[in-house]
Amino acid sequence: MKINMSECGVCEICVESCPLGLIKKKGFKMVILEGCDNCGECQKICPMGCIIK
Ligand code: SF4
Ligand code: SF4
Repeated sequence: MKINMSECGVCEICVESCPLGLIKKKGFKMVILEGCDNCGECQKICPMGCIIK
């Protein structure tokens, strides 16, 4: 998965949704670390719809 940072509001709601703990806040942006298996949990929960494959 990727985060479209032009839409992301850095609300951090997605952080807890990742069962692998791969979503982190880094400065003023969100990053997805190595190892994402595209389970889709973060995509379902993002209110901005900015997490994409
Ligand atoms: S839930 Fe969506 S809008 Fe909120 S920080 Fe995560 S990617 Fe950004
Ligand atoms: S798709 Fe699943 S594993 Fe990948 S970042 Fe989102 S919640 Fe985590």
